[in-house]
Amino acid sequence: METSTTRKLNNKLTIYSTPVKQLRCLSCGKYQIKPGRRYCSKECRQQLNWVLSLSKGLLKAFNARYAAFSFSEDHVILDVLPVWSKGISRFALERANNRKPAEDLKDLILESGREWHHMVENNNSRSYASLFLIEKNQKKNIDPKSIKPDRKARLRLSKQEKKCLKILKLEREDLSSEGHAVKIKSAYKKMAKVHHPDIGGDAEKFRQLSDAHKQMLMWAEDPQYTSRKALHDCWSYDGATNRWSPPL
Ligand SMILES: [Zn+2]
Repeated sequence: METSTTRKLNNKLTIYSTPVKQLRCLSCGKYQIKPGRRYCSKECRQQLNWVLSLSKGLLKAFNARYAAFSFSEDHVILDVLPVWSKGISRFALERANNRKPAEDLKDLILESGREWHHMVENNNSRSYASLFLIEKNQKKNIDPKSIKPDRKARLRLSKQEKKCLKILKLEREDLSSEGHAVKIKSAYKKMAKVHHPDIGGDAEKFRQLSDAHKQMLMWAEDPQYTSRKALHDCWSYDGATNRWSPPL
């Protein structure tokens, strides 16, 4: 995962706001996981990480520039774009009943790895074995750009600032476009109508609200962002760093 901090929002960056996604464990595919989580359990996270690192040997053999792992109800898919190729090669395996996508991906990687080794053992050069598998699985109808990671900026908020958003009843997405101060002020006005002591509100809550308002206005003077390169809905691999990144 590539992470860098930018003090000011660069023109090339687009502000990232969290889309409403259906929450699904990226490892076992189970629905109904906790909001903000990618996995249903620590085991699921560890298992997928392990399988993805297992894939690196194969991706190196293919000289992958980019790769992406995705799954549907009936297939696990590993798309690979080699450095020297203009097209995507798709390695897919039909999913076995009741198995986790992470387990099926492991089988897919081992199967392709076995095929590659088998060719090398039969006196083919390593590069020929790679070329053979890449060409055999090449899919001309898939846009190579589809697995090129995107760079997205995301608001960077401290713990305290996140608390302030809660008090102001603002969502992170509310601040994903320009006009931060206006939005913060209007959220404050709305909440002041609830908490102002003159209209029977709680004095302590009103103080907290005023503090949150001040702190967020200070934040809005110089908003901070982090940026990350990845795909939107699946894990992506960047050959330049030899790393897998979770979806944005
Ligand atoms: Zn899971």
